[in-house]
Amino acid sequence: MGRLLIVSNRLPVTVHKRRGHLHFEPSAGGLATGLSSLYKSYNALWIGWPGIDRKNSSADRDEIREKLLAQNCLPVFLSQREVDEYYNKFCSATIWPLFHYFPQYASYSESAWKAYEHANQTFCDAIVEVWQQGDIIWVQDFQLMLLPRMLRSRLQDPTIGFFLHIPFPSIEMFRMLPWRTEILEGIMASDLVGFHTWDYAGHFLASVRFLLGHESWMGRIPVGDRSTRVDVFPMGIDYSRFASAANSPEVEKEVDKLNESFRERRTILSVDRLDYTKGILQRLDAFDLFLDRNPQYREKLKFVLVVVPSRTMVARYALLKKQIDELVGAINGKHGSLRWTPITYTYRSVPFESLVALYRRADVALVTPLRDGMNLVAKEYLASRTDGRGVLILSETAGAAKELGEAVTVNVNNEEDLVASLETAFAMTDAEQGERLRVMQRRLRRYDVRRWAEDFLNTLQETASAQEELRTRVLGAQARRKLVKDYQQAQRRLLLLDYDGTLVPFFSRPSKAVPTQEVLELLSTLSNSENTDVVLISGRERTSLNGWFGELHIGMVAEHGVWLKPKGADDWEMFESLNAEWKEEVRPIFELYADRTPGSFVEEKDFSLAFQYRRSDSRLGDLRARELVLHLEALTTNLNLQVLEGSKVVEVKNSGVNKGRAAQRWFSEGNYDFILAIGDDWTDEDTFRALPDGAWSIKVGFGTTAAHYNLGSPGKVTTLLRDLLTVED
Ligand code: UDP
Repeated sequence: MGRLLIVSNRLPVTVHKRRGHLHFEPSAGGLATGLSSLYKSYNALWIGWPGIDRKNSSADRDEIREKLLAQNCLPVFLSQREVDEYYNKFCSATIWPLFHYFPQYASYSESAWKAYEHANQTFCDAIVEVWQQGDIIWVQDFQLMLLPRMLRSRLQDPTIGFFLHIPFPSIEMFRMLPWRTEILEGIMASDLVGFHTWDYAGHFLASVRFLLGHESWMGRIPVGDRSTRVDVFPMGIDYSRFASAANSPEVEKEVDKLNESFRERRTILSVDRLDYTKGILQRLDAFDLFLDRNPQYREKLKFVLVVVPSRTMVARYALLKKQIDELVGAINGKHGSLRWTPITYTYRSVPFESLVALYRRADVALVTPLRDGMNLVAKEYLASRTDGRGVLILSETAGAAKELGEAVTVNVNNEEDLVASLETAFAMTDAEQGERLRVMQRRLRRYDVRRWAEDFLNTLQETASAQEELRTRVLGAQARRKLVKDYQQAQRRLLLLDYDGTLVPFFSRPSKAVPTQEVLELLSTLSNSENTDVVLISGRERTSLNGWFGELHIGMVAEHGVWLKPKGADDWEMFESLNAEWKEEVRPIFELYADRTPGSFVEEKDFSLAFQYRRSDSRLGDLRARELVLHLEALTTNLNLQVLEGSKVVEVKNSGVNKGRAAQRWFSEGNYDFILAIGDDWTDEDTFRALPDGAWSIKVGFGTTAAHYNLGSPGKVTTLLRDLLTVED
């Protein structure tokens, strides 16, 4: 097995230069602390920026590289200027606010975008240099969303996983981004894309569908000859590290110190990086109101507010710092006395043992971000409560809330709710605290950071193997050569071609999917070749087919086999005698569903009705389609009708008529020694199944099929058809 290449903006080790000497220190932050404890147990190389200006480090670069390599880290050197543009501007002032639902804070600068592209390219170059066949690449987070695509274009069939540690916002937010397409395409080049919660994954799938036009099925998005899998992996923490530290003598000593200082007072703790997404000001306001309402707690409690400096170069963060300072001062001034300061405020990074001691001493952890991808502090607090006491108050808009249902959850925008949550927490009995804690601890212990990483990597391996299988079904060079040779050597040939999704891609409205000049010329040349019959087998009505292809010397099938038109014939003939009286009864049902589904419409053909919902919201459309099918089921058995579910369409027509039976008409009559059928949706499966042994069959796109081979897109079908006409030397 190859190596695991973890790629993230920052390495888990940060290099500083002080008084001419290099210092190597562990990096702060959830990802660094979470993954660093386990990457050493993999055959892993961690690739990222070591936190030192390329210019500052130029003379020391070899030393840095060597020392980091000894710790399985590979530095990507960036200059401070690059970091300013790429990280401080694009990542922190565009992506971060927008993805956390603060569009009013997002700025859009073309030069910052260019810097982002360039930084991703620099990472790509560094990886290409060390990548070997068999290595697995795991790209982390929003700083590197373009990287998967860059890597896929430079490496041969790499296995790439991508994990987003922040929320993926609803499409209404995401579509505001000027570079939304590039970002989506960048991520989509991964084999596996992971999110913390199903909400984020759902938003991503919706954006992919609306902005790129790719449908998903069970979290898989087939595009071309690959498929991208999207799944949910809620990140855990290094549970045992916190649980065992909680009982260590070092932490015990720290707790004693806290007890001395806080005495009997009950404590509320909050720990955040300095960030407007964390809701620190709102939390302080709620605490202020809590004290107003509950004078009995005066002098009897302590709010320990830990703020870890972060992104201090960004103006908005400096402003927030000032606002926090002022508000803490105001609340302490308003409620405090000579003997008591309600808020103990620390603005710095806290050593691990002190942090765990704070977790252990706090009666209540007040974790109330306005928006947070996951929030590890909430989980760390729970892991540290080996004594079975403590209450977690957690905001609904933190990803962690999806897993920690036993916490006291709050809507942060509702100040009353926040105040009430503190009252609930203080009134909670020890027994109830213990009960709630135990359930959450059990879950966190099981799905810790190690399991999270293993789960992601196992799924990535599985996805990569499935990708491999997919590749073997794809019509490869060898099979293709044989197909072309068979065609060219045959005495009598039959081509059975579906139209929509096979010769042309889908459009939002069926009327827009007109054949290109290239398709018309190809069909014309093929049908004029000697001993070659071309038959278009379509679900469309006769008029469109006549209009587009009436002049060509080809056979046609309309309405999934209701109408046939042999080559050279003037008129269409009905496959068998049918009636359409049932339409009067069924049409109102279709119309009802179309009225309730914006973007959908009812298409009427001679012997069928279709509910078309390609332009509707995909989740609503799929839901309505399922309801419609159920609604129709009882009705259609009496009327001798069948219900077909195609690509974003539900169609009802007379039973017993299908593309396969129509196709049979041709191959049972002609004496063909070469038959090729190509189609894309499941109405074409009838054709594939009806084919005689020895026939060639190709499904456009992926998924289960009776066809022998797959091809990625209509574009690849036209290339294949052209190849049939090219005689090699
Ligand atoms: N943390 C830290 N230094 C501190 C206090 C906390 O590195 O002084 C860690 C904390 O233990 C947690 C991480 O910072 O692992 C914060 O992760 P979280 O998901 O809560 O927020 P993020 O910073 O990722 O937005």
